[in-house]
Amino acid sequence: LLDDAMAAASQPAFTRDGSEVHVAGNVGSEADAAAAAAHGADLAGLIRTEFLFLGRDSAPSVDEQEATYRRVVEALSGRRAVIRTLDVGGDKPLPYVHQPTEANPFLGVRGLRLALAQSELLRDQLRAICRVAADHPVSVMFPMVSQVDELLAARRILDEVCREDERADLAGLEVGIMIEVPSAALKAAAFVPHVDFFSIGTNDLTQYTLAAERGNDAVATLGDALDPGVLRLVDEVCRAASGTGVRVAVCGEIASDPVAAPLLLGLGVDELSVGPYAVPIVKHAVRDLDLAQCRELAKRALALPSAADVRALTA
Ligand code: PEP
Ligand code: MG
Repeated sequence: LLDDAMAAASQPAFTRDGSEVHVAGNVGSEADAAAAAAHGADLAGLIRTEFLFLGRDSAPSVDEQEATYRRVVEALSGRRAVIRTLDVGGDKPLPYVHQPTEANPFLGVRGLRLALAQSELLRDQLRAICRVAADHPVSVMFPMVSQVDELLAARRILDEVCREDERADLAGLEVGIMIEVPSAALKAAAFVPHVDFFSIGTNDLTQYTLAAERGNDAVATLGDALDPGVLRLVDEVCRAASGTGVRVAVCGEIASDPVAAPLLLGLGVDELSVGPYAVPIVKHAVRDLDLAQCRELAKRALALPSAADVRALTA
């Protein structure tokens, strides 16, 4: 099975009834980018840029960031690179950013909230991304968005920064947001006019929906992304995007669970972004699916009371 999957991995994945599903790689280093390309990822659906910012005493310069993003993007050999802006704060503090201690860091100044509060950091990162986007297919993705105004503020900064760079012909620069806060999922329609794509971060979306901290073993069984409460939010996002041209990806861990693929595709997800080594097996799973059956399955899953029932349904 693995040999077959590897051999077919570099080919696009179509369901049995002929719909193409993009299978992307999640990338957190240059090595991951090379692994994603080698394992047949159609694109890098989530480039976590934190590796460049953590474990040091000062922020990376624009030049250093540009050089690193360039190496990551070049390792992808022409595939689209979805670069997520800095997603730190709260439980991942940066020594060079002053932040008061928070009682509930997951509910505090993290992700885009921190980036807007420390806008020089965001500005520099977007400058570096714009330089790379001038000659490569690059998308910018903002994390931890809960309000349309936050997205509009970030887009204004992106526009200003792009205009500074006269080399840049940024027609190919796409902008999207992570959907990982329940309010953003429920208000997805309000974000549609302002984005090219959504990427659902089920790791955080699940922790916020079930009030079950990710990484806390005592509540790990509660925090199952296949909980119908989470699936209903995914459904809401897909409905809001449907027919608008806005694509919907899932980039949380659940995207690589073979049980999840029929449910997510049945709800209307267009892209699964998974760890680089999981790409071949997820493409293999997609090729075995029939979308009409997936839709039926998803509809039934939405009406169930628990993740355990959803898992039993798909077994
Ligand atoms: C997520 O929250 O699902 C996600 C993909 O982002 P991260 O795991 O980096 O928080
Ligand atoms: Mg997240």
